[in-house]
Amino acid sequence: MASHTSNKLDGKVAIITGGASGIGEETARRLANHGVYVVIADIQDEKGHNLAASIGSHQCTYIHCDVTDEQQVKSLVESTLQSNGRLDILFSNAGIMNSVKQDILAFDIPAFESLFAVNVRGMAACVKHGARAMVAGGIKGSIICTASLLASTGNENRVDYVMSKHAVLGLVRSASKQLGAYGIQVNCISPGAVATPLLRGLLGVSEEEGERMLEWSSSLKGVLKAKHVADAVVFLASEEAEFINGHNLAVDGGWAGMG
Ligand code: NAD
Repeated sequence: MASHTSNKLDGKVAIITGGASGIGEETARRLANHGVYVVIADIQDEKGHNLAASIGSHQCTYIHCDVTDEQQVKSLVESTLQSNGRLDILFSNAGIMNSVKQDILAFDIPAFESLFAVNVRGMAACVKHGARAMVAGGIKGSIICTASLLASTGNENRVDYVMSKHAVLGLVRSASKQLGAYGIQVNCISPGAVATPLLRGLLGVSEEEGERMLEWSSSLKGVLKAKHVADAVVFLASEEAEFINGHNLAVDGGWAGMG
């Protein structure tokens, strides 16, 4: 059950895509602790239902939603409005990384298209339908997308993922220009490397091993965890961030600045 640590977001309603695991899961717990009613949207039904039950049915629910299917995204937003009357926060976070190495000489186009269907088309569909609900309801909401440090730099082995996260930045910068007129903020967070199931699956390591491998990736002592990213999302969703719009917030322990 969620225990409130602060009421700074009390009574607000949030959707988190990719909310069943990793950064989304941690953010679901954090937002619920701040009094938010959280709708977890994901394709991992068992994990999503278990997480919603552990947070508590008064504070959280799970809805199956594959973000590559615009109709499912539309239904997710509609059922959130039907059950809760409003949508204040959209954390559009679902994302994947291909297990095949994607360098440009061996670029696998079908794999690139599947990745773009989630990371770019899915992200755009969520921002579209989330924003439409906020505009129609007169809600000065907050939309936060998950980009990556790889939205601002290249990587020779992850060309498709790098392209997709650059696209997320373009989406956020463009949507924030239009939606600012409605009082809706659109921002993104760019995490460094976090030992979530996504990265652990690629590396074939446990959480502990993954965190040990990532210790070098921060100029701060310690290792970046999902909770650090989740805290940044809570900040961007809160009134403390009310005049931040179109921003890309790096949460990387200083990795990008290490040169
Ligand atoms: P994760 O695998 O733990 O969580 C991602 C979630 O997205 C999973 O629950 C998965 O089921 C869900 N998902 C995948 N495809 C989906 C679809 N079609 N529809 C709905 N849900 C879908 O990984 P994570 O590391 O928590 O990733 C969250 C976000 O953070 C992603 O956008 C990822 O690109 C980004 N990111 C991760 C890292 C990292 O190092 N872990 C770094 C930068 C950015």
